[in-house]
Amino acid sequence: MAEKVGFIGLGIMGKPMAKNLLEAGHELVVYNRTAEKAEELAGDGATVAGSPKEVAEQSDVIITMLPDSPQVEEVLAGEGGVLEGIREGSLIVDMSTISPVVTRDLAAKAGEHGASMLDAPVSGGDVGAIDGTLSIMVGGSEADFERAGPLFEAMGKTITHVGEVGAGQVVKAANQIVVALTIEAVSEALVLGSKAGVDPAKILDVLGGGLAGNKVMEVKREKMLGHSFDPGFRIELHHKDLGIALATGREYGVSLPVTAVVDQMLETLKAKGRGDRDHSAILTLIEEQAQHEIGSGG
Ligand code: NAD
Repeated sequence: MAEKVGFIGLGIMGKPMAKNLLEAGHELVVYNRTAEKAEELAGDGATVAGSPKEVAEQSDVIITMLPDSPQVEEVLAGEGGVLEGIREGSLIVDMSTISPVVTRDLAAKAGEHGASMLDAPVSGGDVGAIDGTLSIMVGGSEADFERAGPLFEAMGKTITHVGEVGAGQVVKAANQIVVALTIEAVSEALVLGSKAGVDPAKILDVLGGGLAGNKVMEVKREKMLGHSFDPGFRIELHHKDLGIALATGREYGVSLPVTAVVDQMLETLKAKGRGDRDHSAILTLIEEQAQHEIGSGG
């Protein structure tokens, strides 16, 4: 019999992921803090629950897609949370990007209730969530990974079991370092080139064909060239992720010097009131420092 699936956290990512599960024929129970978002999915056939506890009472597998570690802790282990209603043998799949240390702690708590947990953070952004083409990096037992397989296949394309509980979050932190530093590098290249008199679109065309080519140049091209920074992936979330990377580096004795610099740039952008903008708005900080907006003439 198909497993009943609970889904908590219906934001930019969670809503389309839940929709793809419904479309693939899975029975869904949903909860979101802002109730309207859950009601919208009810129109697509989902059952709306009144709390995370109620979701757990009605589900075999409970998926969470929440902003950060404190929210996942609250929703799983807080009052009225998933662990209060969870049944023995149930599986929690946290697809949020959070700390690997918090993940391992929550997995141990789930174990005390006879349940188990996978961490399965994703990359691919809102577009990947809508298209069902996310990359999903999974930490946890082989058996749990296989159990969640049909659900992952409805939401993602590249699905990789990367190790024990917490390993998915470690790989995600690595991913977030590369993405942030790449956006920063592309921004520097564009501002330098543009202020020195070259069309920024031409810079992207040329760099894209060589070793400098990368997906940021393709996926963020229109946002950067057009200064249209609606998210997408918000600066405040990426700042959170670099915080996770830096804390993990501290725990394991790994210095991450350039990550630390870009982390501070994101802090500055938040202080300037741009925390809700897409992370490609790192460009605006480089532009301000150069007193030059790309595409405005050399
Ligand atoms: P979001 O803020 O759009 O969505 C989070 C949702 O959780 C919201 O609907 C909010 O109402 C709900 N929520 C918050 N606290 C809650 C609580 N205590 N109880 C119940 N619901 C609660 O964020 P998002 O962009 O969907 O990101 C979710 C996670 O996915 C984050 O960890 C983020 O880092 C990660 N992620 C996002 C992207 C992206 O492109 N947006 C890409 C990869 C990974």
